[in-house]
Amino acid sequence: MKKLLSVLSLTILVLAGTITNAEEIADAHTVDFGSYEKNILTQQEIDAIVHMREEEKMARDLYRELSETTNSRVFVNIPVSEQRHMDAFSQLIGRYGLEDPVADESARGVFTDPFFTELYQELIAKGKKSNMDAFQVGAMVEDLNMANLIKYNSETDKEDLTLVYDTLLEQSKHHMSAFIRNLDKQGVTYTPEHITQEQLESAVSSGQKHMQEEAEEGGKMALEIEQELASEKNKEPSSLWQRIKYFFVNLFS
Ligand code: ZN
Ligand code: ZN
Repeated sequence: MKKLLSVLSLTILVLAGTITNAEEIADAHTVDFGSYEKNILTQQEIDAIVHMREEEKMARDLYRELSETTNSRVFVNIPVSEQRHMDAFSQLIGRYGLEDPVADESARGVFTDPFFTELYQELIAKGKKSNMDAFQVGAMVEDLNMANLIKYNSETDKEDLTLVYDTLLEQSKHHMSAFIRNLDKQGVTYTPEHITQEQLESAVSSGQKHMQEEAEEGGKMALEIEQELASEKNKEPSSLWQRIKYFFVNLFS
């Protein structure tokens, strides 16, 4: 019985961990372009894809680096999502036979565009000063990221590109929301540089809503396990499920 209980309480613990960080966990693995047509891209659309591929890498590399100097789980979870964002642009690069600016995915802080090399150095130096600076760097990166996703989305009418921009924007809002929440806890107000104040507020509320939904989902599961645990105390098994469990409970006690 003790063994089963510890297995179940471990499950609850794992679930609780998932709830806390749910908003930082990325959603889609690969982008499904389905029946979307492969179009001829304009130079502007090509440049946008190439730029975003490195911008997502900068975000991933920065957060990975900052996960080593901060004790916040957001820097452990968000890079997983940024890797998928890199993958989405890699998919577009492959789909359209473009030249990939990322020669080696594993080379942290290495970029083809000197703009990112410089910005990376600058943001790393700031982010390593304190947890507060690290969260601020996170907000600055998502600020730039959201602005570019919105801008490039407005400059294209290609459905496959729009799908990527829309999906990544939604997830970037959740990242922004996580950084803002951490800054809030320290009494720091973030002033956006690239997006508008309204866009920032919409990101925060979208992130909160997402987190609440995830928590409700996780909470429901935790409650079900709790109820099952409580019902095990009744030695009279009522349903088939109860009988099966009764069998295992006795096996382990
Ligand atoms: Zn991203
Ligand atoms: Zn992000």
